[in-house]
Amino acid sequence: MSVATPSAQRVELRVEGTVQGVGFRPFVFRLAEELGLAGFIRNDSRGVVIEVEGRDLEPFVRRLQADAPPLASIERVLREERPARGDAGFRILESAGGGIADAPVSPDTATCADCLRELFDPGDRRYRYPFINCTNCGPRFTIVIGIPYDRPLTTMAPFPMCERCRAEYEDPRDRRFHAQPNACPACGPSLSLWPPLAGADPLRAAADALCAGAIVAVKGVGGYHLACRAGDEAAVGRLRARKHREEKPFALMAAGVSAAERLVALTSAERALLVSPERPIVLAPRRPEAPVAASVAPGAPELGVMLPYSPLHHLLLADVGETLVMTSGNLSDEPIAYRDEDAQARLATVADLVLLHDRSIETRTDDSVLRSVRVGRVTATAFLRRSRGYVPASLPLPGAGAARPLLACGAELKSTFCLARGRRAWVSHHIGDLENYETLRSFAEGIGHFERLFEVAPEVIVHDLHPEYLSSKYALEREGVEAIAVQHHHAHLAACLAEHGESGEAVGAIFDGTGYGVDGAVWGGELLYGSPAGFERVGHLLPVRLPGGAQAIRQPWRMACAWLEAAGVGEWPGLRVEPGHRRAVARLIRSGLASPWTTSIGRLFDAVAALCGLRLEVTYEGQAAIELEGGCDPHERGRYPISVGAGGGLMVIDPRETIRAIAADLDRGSPPATVAARFHGALAAATVEACARAAGERGTEVVVLSGGVFANRRLLSTVAAGMSAAGLRVLVPQRLPAGDGGISYGQAAVAAARMAAAPMAA
Ligand code: ZN
Ligand code: ZN
Ligand code: FE
Repeated sequence: MSVATPSAQRVELRVEGTVQGVGFRPFVFRLAEELGLAGFIRNDSRGVVIEVEGRDLEPFVRRLQADAPPLASIERVLREERPARGDAGFRILESAGGGIADAPVSPDTATCADCLRELFDPGDRRYRYPFINCTNCGPRFTIVIGIPYDRPLTTMAPFPMCERCRAEYEDPRDRRFHAQPNACPACGPSLSLWPPLAGADPLRAAADALCAGAIVAVKGVGGYHLACRAGDEAAVGRLRARKHREEKPFALMAAGVSAAERLVALTSAERALLVSPERPIVLAPRRPEAPVAASVAPGAPELGVMLPYSPLHHLLLADVGETLVMTSGNLSDEPIAYRDEDAQARLATVADLVLLHDRSIETRTDDSVLRSVRVGRVTATAFLRRSRGYVPASLPLPGAGAARPLLACGAELKSTFCLARGRRAWVSHHIGDLENYETLRSFAEGIGHFERLFEVAPEVIVHDLHPEYLSSKYALEREGVEAIAVQHHHAHLAACLAEHGESGEAVGAIFDGTGYGVDGAVWGGELLYGSPAGFERVGHLLPVRLPGGAQAIRQPWRMACAWLEAAGVGEWPGLRVEPGHRRAVARLIRSGLASPWTTSIGRLFDAVAALCGLRLEVTYEGQAAIELEGGCDPHERGRYPISVGAGGGLMVIDPRETIRAIAADLDRGSPPATVAARFHGALAAATVEACARAAGERGTEVVVLSGGVFANRRLLSTVAAGMSAAGLRVLVPQRLPAGDGGISYGQAAVAAARMAAAPMAA
């Protein structure tokens, strides 16, 4: 029966945004059927095209946006009238083919409420099936081998669907229509144990082992985790010793929001992040009475908590009935294990038992880590790591975007890469610290995978100025492409501007640990003025020696010596370091031997942590600064003197007075908590003063705060509040980390802007 009559209308609707692989077509199909409309829908390179026909189309057009499935994000709908054709019924057509999809693969998504209900329903055929999923949830990016995103090109290819699963998959009225990982106990992946345990239900056996105090390696969505009961001091201690991880906090997985709230104090924004379908690890202030072993996060003021995001996690947490440590399955700084043979080989010395399954992971993807911060009057999201759940969603580039397809190779630590074509940029999953062969290999493989998925053949390769970074070397070895070098802190500035859609100039306070300066020195406390197209350095922290180079990064007491020396305090007895070591370092500082100049704010934090006696040596990156921030007396509002002077035409943030005041304050017996807080106050005040002056001189009111140091919540909120009071508009990174995970996108933005400015440049 046809619903069309001579009085029927017909329109074409082009829907752009993330509308592929997210259940959008079956949603439209059901909506059209419900409203008795005819026509068709098909995917095309920009999104979907719908032609719909009937007497009253307005309810359809309205609900198209209002009721769209949870994973869809509609950017715009273009509408054109068409002559009615008298179609009968509504159909889903094959893709038009040709063209290049902007979003061929979506991120991995936590188990949805509908699937959870079935998972725990004894009457359902997928009761306790650890691989239940549907169009609205389940693995995506981690199982994709190639495009088009279709079952044969996923790691579900070896599992032919049974008749019932196939019927769901083919029925547009079913919520598993075209759910590529669709499966059931009869046809899909299954769990096993290693070493094998005959006759045991692997899941129950793993839960029993955890309850008995074992360490269990669990194969998840993007890789293996190492799990044990969070309240079990002996198990957690054993995990630390076997994993060779001394103090870096372990992430926790709590069964639900109320269990999480017993561990950490959550704001409503943090609660929303925790339950979001991306299911990141959320860092939040730990409760003093949090029921976790002391060795879960020694000395850390915050705990990282996440909720279950795969059906396997839900079942495991339900069976164990307690919060679990869920830390990445690796030894110390190696990449997380994700291939089964590799996991068995590498984790055999750490785990008592391995719970695995036969659905392979194509791309290793770590858990994302973020927290919520106050910036002026708004609550912002700050990424520490953007990976599972968010990757490979694209980010826009400002203006016309990249005139030619490009690859940006990022920096060294916490590295990511970024591909861009036109206005779209795809930032990779977290690759890790590019310091060894294993990580370099996954970097190169990841680039190949992304180039195929997004059909980008880079003509331009962007890299850091640092000649020794493996990412720079990789870039310079690629043949037949144009190479563009971008200064590290300029990339930080550009990344933040670009994610906010700004292509104009701004002042940037870019504070981090290390970045190669245009003069070859170690930069890290930079005041810049510029846009993605270019920059000038308008100021910096007073340079001091980095005594012994990389050794000074592991031993904050060396930086304390450097700052004491610069401040003229010399052999301050409050610094408890063996006199012989101290004298040797003093010689390095005076001679400059193996001790380059640095303007690093990260190293200034190290120095102050050492002066306070909080941390003389570190076991992981950023540890001293994290503990200094965590050690602040929250009620202390005082601050030390600090000066913003001029030197060589540039502004200089000069904390020598601050260092002298710190030493004197500690000599008077002030507690480190007071000293830490007063130091934060001083640095924040100098930052505000310097930025306000630079902004006034340059006639801008936009200030960017970025670089890894701004992971410090106290510093960020104090500086942001001061900027707002000074009438400045503050931009902070919200879609990418302020740290080096955001560098690749910033490099892409710089290269795109340079190409736009000089399209013919060689
Ligand atoms: Zn689902
Ligand atoms: Zn089946
Ligand atoms: Fe950096």
